Amino acid sequence: MTAQSTKSDIPALQRIRDDVQSMHAYAVQDARGLIKLDAMENPYALPPMLQEALGRRLGQLAINRYPGDRGADLVRALANHAGLPEGFSLMLGNGSDELISLLAMACDLPGAAILAPVPGFVMYAMSAQLQGLRFVGVPLSADFELDEAAMLAAIEKENPAIVYLAYPNNPTANLWDDESIERIVMAQGRQGGLVVIDEAYQPFASKSYIERMARHQHVLLMRTLSKFGLAGIRLGYLMGPQALIAEVDKVRPPYNVSVLNCETALFALEHADVFAEQAAAIRKERDVVESALDRLGVQRWPSQANMVLIRVRDAGKTFEGMKERGVLIKNVSKMHPLLANCLRLTVGTTDENRQMLAALEQSL
Ligand code: PMP
Repeated sequence: MTAQSTKSDIPALQRIRDDVQSMHAYAVQDARGLIKLDAMENPYALPPMLQEALGRRLGQLAINRYPGDRGADLVRALANHAGLPEGFSLMLGNGSDELISLLAMACDLPGAAILAPVPGFVMYAMSAQLQGLRFVGVPLSADFELDEAAMLAAIEKENPAIVYLAYPNNPTANLWDDESIERIVMAQGRQGGLVVIDEAYQPFASKSYIERMARHQHVLLMRTLSKFGLAGIRLGYLMGPQALIAEVDKVRPPYNVSVLNCETALFALEHADVFAEQAAAIRKERDVVESALDRLGVQRWPSQANMVLIRVRDAGKTFEGMKERGVLIKNVSKMHPLLANCLRLTVGTTDENRQMLAALEQSL
């Protein structure tokens, strides 16, 4: 829009859905000059030798061609990396975000619903809204555990097409009780619905659902390379029974994963040990951050991810104070009433965490 024109000067805007016009675009915080601990990224860069090797490999790619067979190579490599059980398949997305959108598209029946515990990852609700589906958010308990009874009641009442369980959850960073999950999975199965277990934070968690997935024909497991150390390339993957993945895959735009994403992911999997070491270092650092928060007397919840959720007296003031001291975190306090005065800290390098904790102490 030019400085002179107003919305009413552009008739074509009437063709944009009202609900889209009233939405806010996903805001990425400006991190320039700040220690970036707001988005659960892996803080470690690729070692220089690998950077050079990757550069050489990407330089030789046929970028004049659409993505081809390397996609199939990546599917195999990821299935192997994840330990995908026999008889199950895997599809690729441009980040898990795209997979969440594709799932909503594939389930877009009139009146269909998507259900997830809240507070949770925002894309579940957003994908439902954009697809004209109902989103049913079932509040967690005050200590951020699953309210199993409320989940079961909502599943029965709403008959959702999809139940999402992020395992661990964002922003609360916890895993759910195994038996509660199983009862929710069974209840959703009895209604003929899907369950998606979102394991975005799997590299930092003590458990995975992958082996349990093999017992069901209505459970999909979603993972991403973002937290593994490749947030910049946008590569998510969805695993599940062949028949289900084949249907969701029909909604996928052709060539959704570029040759650059694909080759970089293949390269990273060839060097998976490097990323596994980074994840181990992050888990160790998480323990250090948690102990330091305890020493500071800051309320926090135990984390199975690369983030720690804390509650302070005045989240706005602490967030701004930390930013003034050069540290960018995420103020999640307005996301849901249960998150009042909560802030989410991504675990960084030893040095970043030291600075983050100092900035927090000075900003409480
Ligand atoms: N699932 C969860 C639970 C997340 O927190 C996020 C991103 N923060 C995603 C999925 C999206 O991951 P991707 O970068 O693969 O789109």
